Formats: sequence, structure tokens, C-alpha cells
Amino acid sequence: MTNLETPDIKNIENGDFRYLLRGQLKSLKDNLQFRKRIVCDPLCKTDTVEIERYPSSAKVIIDGRKMINFASNDYLGLTSHPLIIEALKEGIKLYGAGTGASALVTGHTTAHAKLEEYLKELTGKEKVLLLNSGFAANQALIKAHLSLGANLILDRLVHASMQQALFNGKNFYRYEHNNLKKAERLLQKYENTSIFTEGVFSMDGDSPDLQQLVSLVRKYHSYLVLDDAHGFGACGISGQGTPAKQGVSFSDIDIYMATLSKACGLCGAFIAADGDFIDYLVNTSKEYIYSTSAPAYIAHGLLTSLKIINGEEGNALRKHLNELTDYFRKEARNLPGNVILLPSSTSIQPLIIGDNKRLMEISVFLKSKGILCGAIRPPTVPAGTARLRITITAAHDRNDITRLLQTLNDAFNSIT
Ligand SMILES: *Cc1c(COP(=O)(O)O)cnc(C)c1O
Repeated sequence: MTNLETPDIKNIENGDFRYLLRGQLKSLKDNLQFRKRIVCDPLCKTDTVEIERYPSSAKVIIDGRKMINFASNDYLGLTSHPLIIEALKEGIKLYGAGTGASALVTGHTTAHAKLEEYLKELTGKEKVLLLNSGFAANQALIKAHLSLGANLILDRLVHASMQQALFNGKNFYRYEHNNLKKAERLLQKYENTSIFTEGVFSMDGDSPDLQQLVSLVRKYHSYLVLDDAHGFGACGISGQGTPAKQGVSFSDIDIYMATLSKACGLCGAFIAADGDFIDYLVNTSKEYIYSTSAPAYIAHGLLTSLKIINGEEGNALRKHLNELTDYFRKEARNLPGNVILLPSSTSIQPLIIGDNKRLMEISVFLKSKGILCGAIRPPTVPAGTARLRITITAAHDRNDITRLLQTLNDAFNSIT
């Protein structure tokens, strides 16, 4: 067969997929949109640490170089928490390695059932369903609504996992980001609607006004689906997420979905909803039925993670996180250069650079000084809004933020 590195040009005609493939890659490279992975070695060696002083998950080694990580979603630093690591080890002893089957066969273990029960109590919803990832959960949610003939009304900036599932659907309408007046116009126009939005938008760090949204949903007999991937664990009383932060009860959110991969420090996701809806997913969702369930030790570790999040330690971590975020925002207003700090009160702090090329130069500069930030380009964000996505976590300390600010200052002064 032809080697793609050195293709035999003469044998590849215009319609051949390999011709298209190379064209696509070239255009990504030309537009500075070509993505490459980095090999990241977390500096949290957990074998030797004591519970009181666990290592910072905010330090990583990349290409042999130590960096402060401002690109992760490990908001509470729990990816290196010794109690969670102990629970994972215990979980392996109790349940073994993999589950060996999907949930409808023999993959729904005692550990999964206990975790669903815990989340059910926490949210007060009739039923909870665990999925292997937030991506899968959103696919399942969107496809279920499409298959039931609902009209989907979505914030324009909802996560790719929702946008992607719309691919074969027809009945969906998007409104301008967080603009509830525009959302209301769609609610007036269509019946049998479900609204999809996020607690905290992943690339902007902002939130919809949930109280207002809930009243709209009630007024038009709509149905509210909230993806709180970045809010759950990270904000609100006991880490109960964006509804709690905004004084909205879980009972006002028809379907609450959150990932267990961000503030919770592990992986997976859950959907909390009424019993009928969860039963429908269990019976129809391809994402759920045709995928081996996550290992039971993950569910076991998540129970420990949630107890930390919902307890005193979680409160202390969130307080520390808020203090660091406030400090960053206060100082970042004085940064030079033509950058825009978005009005986010969460630990996602985007700085809009605009131009892809300038963003990449700044990103390279920051890396050379030991600072790792997300460099987010279109199509992940709208054209012309390429940005640094800085995420602050409870694993950072004040010195880390000071260093970040100084390095940003140097970067913006030297790259104009
Ligand atoms: C990360 C994310 C997801 C996907 O969750 P995974 O568990 O990483 O698959 C879904 N929605 C939003 C808003 C996210 O930020």
C-alpha cells in the first residue's frame, strides 16, 4: 500500500480520499490550526506523600522542562489527592481491573450502583445514570431529544459534544450566546422544546442567568438541560455547581448533566433526571448500551472524591481557588497589549488575542518561560477570537499566579 508520507502522486486522483486528506491537512497547517499533542508528565508522584501535604497537580514536565500548568480542568487539584488514590487501590482490590461488559450485561457493579445512589441523594433527582464520558453523555442527551421529536433550542456556544450530535438532526435552533431574549423568541415560535445550555461555558468562563432561564422554561412549558461540566464540584455550596451558586434548586433543572473528569479529578459523567427519562436512555442510548462500562474502581474512587468535594476540605479548596481567581483578575486588568480579559468570575480566565499567529507566538513564549496555557483557536472558538485559556486551580499558589502575570506581561510587551 501507499505510504502516506511519500504518496505516489500519480496514482492519487482528485476524488481519492487521500488527495482530500492531504489537502485538508495542508489547509489546517496554512491556517495555523494544525493540532499536535504534547507528552505531559504530571509531577505528582504520589507514592511517598503524606495526606496533609499532597503534591501539586499544577506542575508538569514537558520535553524535560518543568512547567506550571494553567491548562488543566483539575479545578480542585484532586487528580493527585492521596485519599482518592488510596480509594482507587482499594477499589481494585474489591472489584478487580475492568468490568468486562457493558452496563446492561454485567458491567453495572455495586460500585456503580453506590455512586449513582450518592448522586441521586445529592441532586434529589429520581434517577441518575453514569456514562463513560461527558462527550458520550451529551451525545446521548441530544440524540434522545431528537428521537423523541423535540425542538432543540441551544446556546450557540454549547460544547462540541452537543453540536456534533446535532449533525443528522433537523429540529434545532441556536440563540446568541447567553442572550435569553433571543432564546425567548425561539420559545415563542416553537412548541415541544428543550433548551440546552451550560452552567459555565468552557471557552468563556461565563454563565447564563439560571433564575431567568428557569422562569422562561416554566412560562413556555419547555424542558431545561444543563451541562455543568465546569461548575459541578468547582462552585456552589458543597460544590453543588452552578445552580447552587445562583440560588437555583436542582428540582428546577429538568436534566442535570456533569462530568466527573474535571473538578472530580477522575473520569466519566452522570445524568440526573426523572425516572422515565433515565429509563429511556438505558433502553435506547447507543452510547450507554454498546460501550463497556468504566472500571468499578473508578466509581469507588469517585465516591471518595465526591465526599471530599461536598465536605469541609472541598469548601477550603474552593475558597482558595476563589482567592487566586480574584487576585488574577484584579492584576490582569493592568496587562499591556491589546488583549481582552473576558468577564468571567470562574476559574476559567480567557484572554482574547484575536489573531492565530500572535496567539501561537505568545503561547511559545510562555512555554519557553515555563508557563503552560491553553492556546484555543477556531473552530473551537469563533473566528477572530483566538485566545489564551487560563485555568486556575486550587493546586496553584499565589506565587504561581504572580509568575503567570509577570510572564504574560513580558509576552504581551515583546510580541505585538
Ligand atoms: C469537557 C466537557 C465535556 C466532555 O466531558 P468529558 O468527560 O471530557 O468527555 C462536555 N461538556 C462540556 C461543557 C465540557 O467542558
